[in-house]
Amino acid sequence: YNHVYGKGKWKDFDQKDLLLSYNALKVLEARYLLKDPNTLRYIETPQMLFRRVARFLAKVESKYGKSEEEIKKLEDKFYDMISDLRFVPNSPTLMNSETRLGILSACFVIPVKDAMTTPEGDGIYDALRATALVHQQGGGTGFDFSELRPKGDVVASTAGVASGPVSFMKVFDASTDVIKQGGKRRGANMGVMHVWHADIEDFIKAKTGQLKDVQLQNFNISVGVYDYFMEAVERGETVPLINPRKTKIPGTDHEYYITRARGYMKEEWVQEIILDELEEKGGSVSLDESKIVTVDEALIIANKEGAIVRYVNAKSLFDEIVKGAWDSGDPGLLFIDTINRRHPVWYLGKINATNPCGEEPLLPWESCNLGSINLEKFVIEINGKPVIDWSGLADTITYAVRFLDNVIDANRYPLKQIEEATKRTRKIGLGVMGLARMFIKLGISYDSVDALYLSYQLAKFIYYYAYKASIDLAKEKGPFPAYNSKLYRDIWESAISFEELLNIAGIQERPSDYVRKLASVVDKLDLSELKGERLKYGLRNSTVVSIAPTGTISIIAGTSSSIEPLFALAFVRNVAVGKFIEIDPLFLEYLRKYELDDPEVIQKIAETGTIGENVFMPRSLRRLFRTAHEVSPIYHVLHQAMWQQWNDSGTSKTINLRTEEPPETVEKVYLLAWKLGIKGITVYRDKSKQQQVIYFGVKK
Ligand code: UDP
Repeated sequence: YNHVYGKGKWKDFDQKDLLLSYNALKVLEARYLLKDPNTLRYIETPQMLFRRVARFLAKVESKYGKSEEEIKKLEDKFYDMISDLRFVPNSPTLMNSETRLGILSACFVIPVKDAMTTPEGDGIYDALRATALVHQQGGGTGFDFSELRPKGDVVASTAGVASGPVSFMKVFDASTDVIKQGGKRRGANMGVMHVWHADIEDFIKAKTGQLKDVQLQNFNISVGVYDYFMEAVERGETVPLINPRKTKIPGTDHEYYITRARGYMKEEWVQEIILDELEEKGGSVSLDESKIVTVDEALIIANKEGAIVRYVNAKSLFDEIVKGAWDSGDPGLLFIDTINRRHPVWYLGKINATNPCGEEPLLPWESCNLGSINLEKFVIEINGKPVIDWSGLADTITYAVRFLDNVIDANRYPLKQIEEATKRTRKIGLGVMGLARMFIKLGISYDSVDALYLSYQLAKFIYYYAYKASIDLAKEKGPFPAYNSKLYRDIWESAISFEELLNIAGIQERPSDYVRKLASVVDKLDLSELKGERLKYGLRNSTVVSIAPTGTISIIAGTSSSIEPLFALAFVRNVAVGKFIEIDPLFLEYLRKYELDDPEVIQKIAETGTIGENVFMPRSLRRLFRTAHEVSPIYHVLHQAMWQQWNDSGTSKTINLRTEEPPETVEKVYLLAWKLGIKGITVYRDKSKQQQVIYFGVKK
């Protein structure tokens, strides 16, 4: 202990281990604490783990001329925020810091070109190899399979017949299964296919019906949809399906902005981008204007090339997507236009895919490391009343951004392409957990306009300080290499206002004075002032915020996950390391306050996991402790929308539905998500799959 903590200090650190819950210890023990590879004995305690991570991430600053003393100070700052459970980095950083395995990031997007292998290393089997390396160390991977020629198409070199993207996805799935055995954690994948692809119908059905508990079990799948498609759905129009091998119109991804072929982009938007470029470059346009085509022109060209396989009714296709999602949770949707429109470094190319849970839309080969702030820790009492510790929050955000930026330097990348792409844009993703518990401590129900308002204000506050911290880092260490002060797009300029979001969702009620006062500091933040600083000094990271699911780190921090409502007040949690029976400790605290902590009462509650219908419970408790299936779908979607406005990456969220919800609910959720400017959406209807990570109630 002395060696790790410094002489005589170890007692303090042991005390800190008492902050960890039983479940946290179980999880840390199973996968995170380092073991001697020969004896398999543990060689660290949780505090030693946190110290190892803090030390490793502070040390990289010696590269930037920091003295030993400064580095030690920073290490202590990092250690304090992690060991206090105010901020926790994503799992790979916890697992791999200072070890032989060097991946510290959770999110990767790997390109898949229509070839077995390519000299650039982005063919199907090159991608498979890259994926294996990432999974081995605990990272998750996303792919766009839309470049692959459809099933039944020709293979020139062998005069054979192509088996299509879905069959190749099965190869990635099988490989993921194999790696899982020896890896640090279950490899996760996101498979994307864009809605124009000729095999889209096969893709939509790849995980539903008889296949739902059988095929592609290591994949989440999402259909990449565009505004043109969603509009066609609303108008009941037809859309073409295309064989990507046969058309040159789409060209490279860079041409996304000047062609309208694949995306059938809205003309005004394309024009606007070109005008922007014209203005910013002082009149000299480098874009080849001859490539600008309208939707109709693109279709005529595609038709001439023989690339249009057939036309389908957009609404029928959408209905199939909805049916699949209702039946099994897959596919979700990615709104490709929204993603690219709000991508700060849009000038580097088009984003076609995200990481497995959707919080990171990334360019080919990019990776991103995440870390989340535990909001529950920022509720303090003043004069016996709960308030938000805004200044403490701002301080933690600032150090968290510095920490995450250091992860990029400390990372050991499995491939040269990943290292280059990641260091070019230096994306980091600061997120949150414990939102639901913060609400409870403030006396606010999750499914209320007050909670929505607080989500919106918190998101803005976190974005403001993360962006500010990144500007300050640019001052100190220089901006990310691909930074272009004129072309960089400030996403907050296109944030939809709170009022407008409520209007879109048809909600008339407005937030109370109580919550407005609680968050009034946020109204004073002036982002346009910060923009002046950004133009002057640049930005260290091309993205700063990202709302991750925090599946494991929220267990370590002992709080509710991400921006989700409480899942159940008592439940059985099935994870790779075993079964946990859990009674929410915060709920227990409240039961005690009301002198309701009787074993029989608790037992009863544990049977359903909820108290919403329990007439013997005080009304205030029933309202405060609303769980995921009691919260109406619209409030789920709205919370996601609130967080997405002040987020330069994505927002991971599961729209939990009750078993009895009809497919129409999924339809409504998907359409609303598009209108609210969300980048990607996933639903999960309770009990729709056999394998479900969390079950209600202890009695299952
Ligand atoms: N992830 C993964 N395998 C897993 C869980 C997560 O590859 O079993 C990746 C995936 O990219 C996901 C990201 O890690 O989107 C973040 O997930 P989460 O926040 O749940 O991770 P944590 O840091 O809490 O383990």
